[in-house]
Amino acid sequence: MQYFKRIIDLHKYLSEARANGLTIGFAPTMGALHAGHMSLIHDSKQQNDRTICSIFVNPTQFNDPADLEKYPRTVAEDLDLLYDHACDVVFLPGVAEIYPQEGFHTPELDFEGLTDVMEGAFRPGHFAGVAKVVYRLLNIIRPDRLYMGQKDYQQWTIIHSMLDQLQLPIELVMCTTVREPDGLAMSSRNRRLTPEFREQAPILFESLSACLEAILEGSKDYRHLEKIAKEAILTAGLEPEYFQIADGYTLQVAHPAGLSKRLVICVAAWAGEVRLIDNLYLDL
Ligand code: AMP
Repeated sequence: MQYFKRIIDLHKYLSEARANGLTIGFAPTMGALHAGHMSLIHDSKQQNDRTICSIFVNPTQFNDPADLEKYPRTVAEDLDLLYDHACDVVFLPGVAEIYPQEGFHTPELDFEGLTDVMEGAFRPGHFAGVAKVVYRLLNIIRPDRLYMGQKDYQQWTIIHSMLDQLQLPIELVMCTTVREPDGLAMSSRNRRLTPEFREQAPILFESLSACLEAILEGSKDYRHLEKIAKEAILTAGLEPEYFQIADGYTLQVAHPAGLSKRLVICVAAWAGEVRLIDNLYLDL
């Protein structure tokens, strides 16, 4: 496994790989890696000749400075894990490498409401920061395929829209959410949960699953299902920000009489000081 901190060194590696006709898969991360991230590496290794993982805690996507400060940083363990999973290249840029003083041009994009709801509504500016860093990383790496998790479903749809709007020849692959045995979606933030909140946190997956099952059984009152789920989350001691049954493509509030081809059920809740998100989707 090779690792690079500077773009110039990564470029040397990439031009050689391309000259040899090798395909490149890329998984962007913010580190504090776990089995969820490794599923991205695994999928990329299966579909490409070379796999690149970036570790960069992107300051522009944190709307809360305290969250950025408390974000776990575990680079040595991350490198061990990537080595164990035979990742080919790790890109570990500093902030000045990604955001040079002379700046770089980010194109104007229109996400048509995708960025206004759910995470976008509760974390103003978050997706502008995500789009900016992913655009920059894609410009540096120019992969054939990009690997992102279903865990961040809204982020996936926004990056999908960005690739589409810019007509970038990059295939975006959605990797299924990897969960702990009790259903809790793996997240770098889970390590900050107190033992009490760790025990209660699976309520998110349980309430998503119950909601999905109710829809499959024919339940039509989506707003009532959302209300029941929020109550269950509150009863478990977590504080829900939203629990939303949305159209899986537009991310706007779904209605049973609507024409949605896919529904996505998304939740965000505070478990003490830690904000958790999760989702499930259903193709109709
Ligand atoms: P992050 O480091 O949290 O920015 O995540 C980097 C990538 O890993 C994103 O595409 C996430 O959606 C994905 N990811 C994070 N957690 C999981 C998980 N539990 N299962 C699958 N993918 C995940």
